[in-house]
Amino acid sequence: MSSLPDFESLTVGAAQRACVAPLKDADIDEPVMEARLLVGFVLGGGPERVLADRDEPLSAEQALALKAVLSQRCQRVPMAQIIGVREFWSLPFKVTSATLTPRPDTETLVEALLHHVSESPARVLDLGSGSGCILLAVLSEWPDAMGVGVDASAEALDVARENSEVLGMGSRAKFVQADWSQEQWAQALVGSWGGPFDVVASNPPYIPALDIEALETDVRTHEPRRALDGGDDGLDAYRAIIPQLSVLLTDDGVVGFEVGIDQADDVAAMILDAGYELLEKRADLGGVVRAVIGKKVSKRVKGRDK
Ligand code: GLN
Repeated sequence: MSSLPDFESLTVGAAQRACVAPLKDADIDEPVMEARLLVGFVLGGGPERVLADRDEPLSAEQALALKAVLSQRCQRVPMAQIIGVREFWSLPFKVTSATLTPRPDTETLVEALLHHVSESPARVLDLGSGSGCILLAVLSEWPDAMGVGVDASAEALDVARENSEVLGMGSRAKFVQADWSQEQWAQALVGSWGGPFDVVASNPPYIPALDIEALETDVRTHEPRRALDGGDDGLDAYRAIIPQLSVLLTDDGVVGFEVGIDQADDVAAMILDAGYELLEKRADLGGVVRAVIGKKVSKRVKGRDK
């Protein structure tokens, strides 16, 4: 990496300009915008401050801090991890290297769940909760619901718990460690949380193992691999979770999965094969079918139809 500029005694505007070339060298797509985000972060007021204060000199402390964050970004640490926060569903989420960065694509799953579950359900489960963004987004829309977020990573659970507190949902959202590769994980969960759930949501790891090396550098080197790697064909997590929906879901309960590119038909088929109704396959803003929603058909209705 080329050596980074010294920002000491530069004005805010000049400092922003000086960040652009190193970001470009690091192959960052939008170096001007990212330079503004970094300077805004060290000023403390966000990108709006950069324009307002452009003729002010940086303090010595700010100059040092800017060099440090610029160096991180040039090593492709994701911006959300540097700034420490990412907006999702218009809520601020703390993000660390232990959590997948919440992505706009995942808002498609939240939207689809809200569409198909019109009344506030009582109990929601999020499998692979990461930062907690899916669970906390739906709980923010369903004020009478309580939720359980499950993750294998203790560090991710700590971040999710902090997010639930900061967002004022600490009493309604619980985050617990579990691993769906273990025997009886679903029975244990339902046993300790007082029965099945009305809604099960999950954005599990779904990148086929061999595709991981082709991911963008930021994601590949700084986001938790365990949250990305879905095994040979990317579908391992769905294979582990779908058979357990009979234990996890209430009658008439709704399940919503995020899926990767070209996985929607496979996941929909798995949901149908397991005896559930398919409610929707919903595309994200980029046109990728991103969320698959199913429903448990209640025993009562099944009986009558026979
Ligand atoms: N959408 C993420 C990516 O493409 C992957 C998320 C996941 O595996 N659940 O980087």
